[in-house]
Amino acid sequence: MRGSIGGPRVMLRRLRELMAEPVNAQERLDKIVMTIASNMVAEVCSVYVLRGDSRLELFATEGLKREAVHHSSLELGEGLVGTIAAQAAPLNLPDAQQHPAFAYLPETGEEIYHSFLGVPILRGGQTLGVLVVQNRTHRTYPEEEVEALQTTAMVLAEMIAGDELDSLVTPGENLALRRPQHLAGRALTEGLGLGHAVLHEPRLVVTSLIAEDVHTELARLETALDSLRTSVEDLLTRSDIMRAGEHREVLEAYKMFAYDRGWAERIREAVVSGLTAEAAVERVQNDTRARMLRQPDPYLRDRLHDLDDLANRLLRLLVGWDHLEDEELPRDAIIVARNMGPAELLDYDRERLRGLVLEEGAPTSHVTIVARALGIAMVGQVDGVLDLVNTGDAIIVDGVSGEVHVRPPADIEAAYVEKVRFRARRQEQYHQLKDKPAVTRDGQPINLMVNAGLLVDLPHVKEAGAAGIGLFRTELQFMVAATFPRMREQLQLYRAVLDAAGDLDVTFRSLDVGGDKVLPYLRSAQEENPALGWRAIRMALDRPGLLRTQIRALLHAAAGRELRLMFPMITEVGEFDRARALVERERRHLQRHGYALPDTVKLGAMVEVPSLLWQLEEMVARVDFLSVGSNDLMQFLFAVDRANAKLADRFDPLSPAPLRALRKVIEVAHSGGVPVTLCGELAGSPLTAMALLGIGYRSISMAPAAIGPVKAMLMSLDLGTLERWLLPQLNLPHDGLRKELTGFAQKHDVQI
Ligand code: PEP
Ligand code: MG
Repeated sequence: MRGSIGGPRVMLRRLRELMAEPVNAQERLDKIVMTIASNMVAEVCSVYVLRGDSRLELFATEGLKREAVHHSSLELGEGLVGTIAAQAAPLNLPDAQQHPAFAYLPETGEEIYHSFLGVPILRGGQTLGVLVVQNRTHRTYPEEEVEALQTTAMVLAEMIAGDELDSLVTPGENLALRRPQHLAGRALTEGLGLGHAVLHEPRLVVTSLIAEDVHTELARLETALDSLRTSVEDLLTRSDIMRAGEHREVLEAYKMFAYDRGWAERIREAVVSGLTAEAAVERVQNDTRARMLRQPDPYLRDRLHDLDDLANRLLRLLVGWDHLEDEELPRDAIIVARNMGPAELLDYDRERLRGLVLEEGAPTSHVTIVARALGIAMVGQVDGVLDLVNTGDAIIVDGVSGEVHVRPPADIEAAYVEKVRFRARRQEQYHQLKDKPAVTRDGQPINLMVNAGLLVDLPHVKEAGAAGIGLFRTELQFMVAATFPRMREQLQLYRAVLDAAGDLDVTFRSLDVGGDKVLPYLRSAQEENPALGWRAIRMALDRPGLLRTQIRALLHAAAGRELRLMFPMITEVGEFDRARALVERERRHLQRHGYALPDTVKLGAMVEVPSLLWQLEEMVARVDFLSVGSNDLMQFLFAVDRANAKLADRFDPLSPAPLRALRKVIEVAHSGGVPVTLCGELAGSPLTAMALLGIGYRSISMAPAAIGPVKAMLMSLDLGTLERWLLPQLNLPHDGLRKELTGFAQKHDVQI
């Protein structure tokens, strides 16, 4: 093992004593730089702290002119110190003046020092400042000294993160750590959320930095590394507990890192230099994050992300997982995560959720759909948000513009409070439309329905003034449960749904799991392409026991009423026939045993797999209704994973190919006299809903919050004019029609 064992450990011990001394912040900092300078035999040691205005202010120095302290500062990226902060990487120079970034600050008197070693002060991926040592002679600092200075910088990071230094910053300024951050992402569900940040996978804050006994710390580290390897192996073999997004590739990367000697060795070295095991992990993790920031290759950046996740797991093993469970969710929680599955979102107390911010995320992924159903503001594709947010920070999620404000200044917060009021007034206007018939300006009635799936959705059906539930996603009950819901539990939910809907139509969809909808208790084999895999009706037909139980629960619940049931992911007509046969069999079974049955049973198929587009005539001859699942249909038409953030904007459903496909469904269904509804996310935004009406859809189903805006749109729409303009456009060669459709709406005063 390289490195001198004595040096940094002696220094860290001395720093620990200094941290405990009852002196004021400036005195403590002064003593710290003095200690570092003498320990490293440097003539200069200085600390620069990053301010909210992106300047690095000199906070303390041993060796440079004292008058410069709190008077001298550099822009982020300016000079050597600014370069270190901007790149989050050390600089080790035998002749500083020769470096192209060198900036001369006359007030410091540093021109006589030639060699220069500076390291960033990092914490949780953020740069908080820079720590520098300088010498008169031309020397290159050995690697051990660079390491030692980086380790020492962690102590300063702790000090900056506490509030001790806040009072020292030049009046009128604040520390970067508490700086407001304005980030831009993609709006995924409409709404505004004001609240406090909760990290879905909290980053542990290491508070105990300096080891009492190196041997004990090394032993702790080895135990934790062993458990880490076992848990990753375990995850790899138990694919059933893998969560959405935690794909095999990621786990393989975890495994590679968990066995990476270099990584473990670097952590060990940091322990030997005097850190506790957890501080050593954090110290190595800081380097990883810094490399991540500088890495332009997205693939490598992802791998560094994986390594960062793994280090986080290791930290939790060292500090203890339990410690996280106790934290109470604030009443206005805004969840911040890299990505998550729908079931994980549903694990949170819905009453307390105000918003969701993801580094990834796409508009039709299921976590988005669930967030929309819960009425939570959501912004996705917010690069780097996890590194900028701390648990408990005030945060605003703007699901209209896609902006996220972390630690917003008072004026922004006030503006948002006003926006929230404005939205409430608009909601009130939409609410006024609730009892008005959904009829276009030229008198065409439109059937507006809601998508639902949970008990909490039910009051929304009436509140929104919807004509019924166009899609009841039965899998949500399965996703929130810890074990398979029994027949009785399913029956209770379905009965409650039908009771709440009263005279309104409810279309249940049979269990649609697989893809990104994972049931933690359902073991299934790992699949390369889960969206194209053993899911929905495919699984149901192979495991008829599950589907039969569900059908029985539905038949019981709808006794004396109408039961409308549709099957997801139908790919060929035979699948529908088999599903229908199962319904018939259950119906006869219940009849034989004298149970009350539904008055009528209507069965439908979802059109969401393109192969069905060429079997529409056969389908229409069999079904009572069709329902277009445009989310999956677009995913398969464009060959674009609906959960992949990188592709979310690449293809537009408002272009000729998908619009022609959607039009074809309408034409064939109409000629066969079969009603069609469209229940994907396309139905829920006024512009796309307008396009759907324009190509012939008269029944659409959407999130409850979308009913008001879509109704306002159609009430201002002359549908005849739209049809006359739009239908011929479908046959012309077009890249996309979004701009033209927006232009149409503006020209004809349609409220989109
Ligand atoms: C769809 O695919 O459009 C649909 C409505 O179903 P889900 O989003 O639940 O897959
Ligand atoms: Mg679908």
